Amino acid sequence: MTNPLFTFLVQGSSPTPYKVKFTKAGSNISAFCTCPAGLNGQYCKHRFRILDGDSTGIISNNLEDVKTVASWMTGSDIEMPIKRMKELELNLKKIEAELSIIKKQVSKAMRD
Ligand SMILES: [Zn+2]
Repeated sequence: MTNPLFTFLVQGSSPTPYKVKFTKAGSNISAFCTCPAGLNGQYCKHRFRILDGDSTGIISNNLEDVKTVASWMTGSDIEMPIKRMKELELNLKKIEAELSIIKKQVSKAMRD
């Protein structure tokens, strides 16, 4: 049995759309993107969005395949780290909001 493969064309900041490919072997998800970050093996939002079921920017005619790729997450090798990543991003937002408030309070307190 061949491993499933899906390719999406995503319009990013470059005039040439990026190719975002997903394949799965057992619980192992592989995802590749032709954007500069993706080519360097760094975080790129194009792969994460699709894994999240978000079809933003996709210009290829296979939007329904986004659901299939997103459904691969459950039980995959990247499910837990991505879950943790989302938790940390949420914590970071809370910390940033609290920090902004306390900076304003301290700045105000220093003026009286
Ligand atoms: Zn990318």
